[in-house]
Amino acid sequence: MHLFAPWVDVLQGSGDKLTQWWQSRRATAQGGCGEVFLVGAGPGDPELITVRGMRLLQQADVVIYDRLVAPALLDYCPRGTRKLYVGKQCGRHSVPQQDINALLVREAKAGRIVVRLKGGDPFIFGRGGEEMAELREAGVRVSVVPGITAAAGCAASTGIPLTHRDHAASVCLVTAHRRDGAPALDWAALAADPHRTLVCYMGLSELAEISQQLTRHGLPPETPVALVSEGTTARQRALRCTLASMADAAAQAQLPSPCLVMIGDVVTLADPERVKHRLEATADV
Ligand code: SAH
Repeated sequence: MHLFAPWVDVLQGSGDKLTQWWQSRRATAQGGCGEVFLVGAGPGDPELITVRGMRLLQQADVVIYDRLVAPALLDYCPRGTRKLYVGKQCGRHSVPQQDINALLVREAKAGRIVVRLKGGDPFIFGRGGEEMAELREAGVRVSVVPGITAAAGCAASTGIPLTHRDHAASVCLVTAHRRDGAPALDWAALAADPHRTLVCYMGLSELAEISQQLTRHGLPPETPVALVSEGTTARQRALRCTLASMADAAAQAQLPSPCLVMIGDVVTLADPERVKHRLEATADV
């Protein structure tokens, strides 16, 4: 069954603006060098891709995709589309970034329309910036189609607004996972504002460190935290705990990745049906 059938049919109506736009892009590609589209696949639920992203998937010659992309999305590619997986294999390393860059350049230079499909948004911890720079350097045309980033997806699926006039005046997306040699996070700045929501990407293996650093720099240990695993999918699990208890809560619940860490007062607004309290009687302070 095609989840998107009703509106895809509408979009495919002859003469619509998107079709014309697409045809002109393809004609350009056939005249020589192809084009790469860095497309955000959304946070997990396959319905959370944009209309433009879906349209491109349906027209691509090649789709190069990551681990976090919902597999159901690939079913919307035409039969002849080549689908190349470049994510992390179980127990093996992911394809090195330079090899992905070289693959994108090679496929585009062979005159193909290439969709580089990435989880969430390509420009939020997605290395979209690195790929874009390489493609530009190689003289390949590259366009970006934004996606719903995990923070926005998980906020919606847990009922935790990222900002709220009574709770948080700003939101900060941060990763604890840094490239070797990158400067350390400015923990003092991150802990400085209790009226800010902090959302940590790639934080599951760093929970103890995040908790320690933020409390050491002044964020109260009882600050509410939500851990959201496989957010927006049918497998979503979300736990409410505190800054002090989050590492224990995740370990006890054996939360799988991908997991997002949402920190701040807005967590108190979570939908109780979707975000369960953990460790209330034990490590919670
Ligand atoms: N570009 C992506 C982020 C890639 S980094 C985006 O915009 O969302 C990968 C990290 O994103 C994961 O380690 C996790 O912290 C977070 N993430 C991605 N998808 C998620 C999901 N469905 N649920 C929870 N966290 C998710």
